[in-house]
Amino acid sequence: MPELPEVETVKRTLNQLVKGKVIDRVTVNLARIIQRPDDIDQFAFMLAGHTIQGVERRGKFLRILLDGLVLVSHLRMEGRYGVYASSDPVEKHTHVIFHFNDGTELRYKDVRQFGTMHLFKPGEEFHSPPLNKLGLEPLDPEFTVDKFKEALRGKTSKIKAVLLNQAYVVGIGNIYVDESLFRVGIHPEQPANTLTDEQFRDLHQAVVATLSEAVEVGGSSIKSYVNGQGEMGMFQHQLKIYGRQNEPCVACGTPIEKTVVGGRGTHYCPNCQTLD
Ligand SMILES: [Zn+2]
Repeated sequence: MPELPEVETVKRTLNQLVKGKVIDRVTVNLARIIQRPDDIDQFAFMLAGHTIQGVERRGKFLRILLDGLVLVSHLRMEGRYGVYASSDPVEKHTHVIFHFNDGTELRYKDVRQFGTMHLFKPGEEFHSPPLNKLGLEPLDPEFTVDKFKEALRGKTSKIKAVLLNQAYVVGIGNIYVDESLFRVGIHPEQPANTLTDEQFRDLHQAVVATLSEAVEVGGSSIKSYVNGQGEMGMFQHQLKIYGRQNEPCVACGTPIEKTVVGGRGTHYCPNCQTLD
């Protein structure tokens, strides 16, 4: 599943590839991807003739900005965008095609078919699902320790479950929650309201650093991937704890354990991350 750093990388890549392009027409091959408006012909009609002015991100959602419209797109499990020549054969699982007036196309491919697109007038998108109930944006300069503490204040659930809740902080995701908690030595099952001020400060720093580093890795590794097919998606990260069960902890050598917290596979070092 793409996490925030992958979506950030897709955003940056799309900005390089489709900014300024004019949509001639839109083909929808799978109606259920289009969540708003209800009618796919209306969706295509509304987009025709509009210019892509840039791509932004809110949590794990892409906001494709056009003149007078905003397309909110979520890749969910397997969604991918790619830019092709219109003469290139259309691959299987290509559900939406934005045909540009320069002979190229932005194609949305999604094997699992869980991805969504919502079309809005600019500004409307923040007051309607799926963006209206989202919490703090961790890579935003306004994401301060105080706002982080305020959002998590009084929550008695396990810190991992709280960090995964998109209503508090968006887009940290399962992998980066584990990486952040390991970095600061906090056990994933520690109740959020028992964190000290110092732990909040360290955790805030770890979340920002972990996500920022992943974005940087994505920025360098995505290039070769995009050159091949013009397609963007997931890439490999340097992970210290996630997916490394039974391997020695990089800090102390203790075998990493795997458990389930908040319904998600959770990796931690039983020596570095103790429950007080
Ligand atoms: Zn350890």
